Amino acid sequence: MDPLYGIPETAREEFVAWYRQARVPQIRYVAFLTTVLYLIYAATEQNVAGEQQGLRLFVHGVLVSAALLAVGVMSFYSAWYRPMLWLLSTAPIGAVAANLYFNSQQGDFAYYVPEIYLNLMWTFTVSGLALRQATLTASISVLLILAVTLGSSLEPGVQRLHLVWILACVSFGFLSAFVLEKAHKTMFLNQSRLALSASIDGLTGLWNRARIDQFFAEEVARANRYGTPFSLILIDIDHFKSVNDTHGHTVGDTVLRQFAALLRDNVRSVDKVGRLGGEEFLIVLPEANEQQAQAAARTLQQRINGFDFDTVCRRTASFGVTQFLAEEGLHSMLERVDRALYRAKENGRNRIEAL
Ligand code: GH3
Ligand code: MG
Ligand code: MG
Repeated sequence: MDPLYGIPETAREEFVAWYRQARVPQIRYVAFLTTVLYLIYAATEQNVAGEQQGLRLFVHGVLVSAALLAVGVMSFYSAWYRPMLWLLSTAPIGAVAANLYFNSQQGDFAYYVPEIYLNLMWTFTVSGLALRQATLTASISVLLILAVTLGSSLEPGVQRLHLVWILACVSFGFLSAFVLEKAHKTMFLNQSRLALSASIDGLTGLWNRARIDQFFAEEVARANRYGTPFSLILIDIDHFKSVNDTHGHTVGDTVLRQFAALLRDNVRSVDKVGRLGGEEFLIVLPEANEQQAQAAARTLQQRINGFDFDTVCRRTASFGVTQFLAEEGLHSMLERVDRALYRAKENGRNRIEAL
């Protein structure tokens, strides 16, 4: 079964982009190595081939080598990705066709036919083509091989041996490519799960401190570059220590989870809600000015004040709100929102203060 079966479309697209990037170096090295080998082959062939020496030299030493060299060079430029893949998918078919044209009617076909077998394995396992593309290319090559060699003058016994080799190449090749692609998909999934779990706060499921700091830093960079406003809301639950002291840590944890869900469910989908630690939360509001952030904080305050938490019923929280000021750094903005929250506590809690 496909390891990516059932994952969201965006994650699938991420895989495709990641896999594409991962294959480019392989395509490059294999293309350069195969170019060199084809040049050696073209030179060596001159000593043994009886006929069409000029044409053989042109096809192997110029055409196929140039196509592979072009693939290697194109791999350096992402804009050339599609033509590169096209060339990489068609070059093996061209090489098979040339081999059949030169050798299939010759008595010493057996000396040349390994190029065809190797070509099929190459397409599946080393070329760097994805499974689907490799299968398409190899299938066309096999159809071509069968069409030519089944009608050729090979003895029946030799022909059967030839078919066994083709079967072996295709089955080994397909299996290797299949297993490799599956392993890559599993690796990608595990890596994205790990990356996600490293960003999540275990208790509340909100973004953890490291991740929310990152979102914050990204917004600062964006605001400095494009001049778009953004705001922060810093929230601290009032007298939370008394929850733990009166009802125990487990009840405290439940309140934290319910509080976190209230925050997450009552902000815009673009807002990032993180837990800084303890009972302190930070919300990053992209493209929101101070008035809009204050309105968001009021909505949250209303929801919190109207919510019946398990065991402890009503709780309140204090809010600090601030907007990004041109050219400022992370620290001065954080320090300001912290002061705003402190002021909300000083002025009696269950309040919103903006600075
Ligand atoms: P204030 O209104 O001034 O904010 O008072 P407070 O009691 O909320 O503030 P304080 O910072 O003194 O207390 C925070 C408490 O949060 C202390 C600690 O026991 C509790 N706490 C921190 N992390 C966790 C947690 O993960 N689970 C639970 N249950 N409690 C936690
Ligand atoms: Mg508190
Ligand atoms: Mg606190």
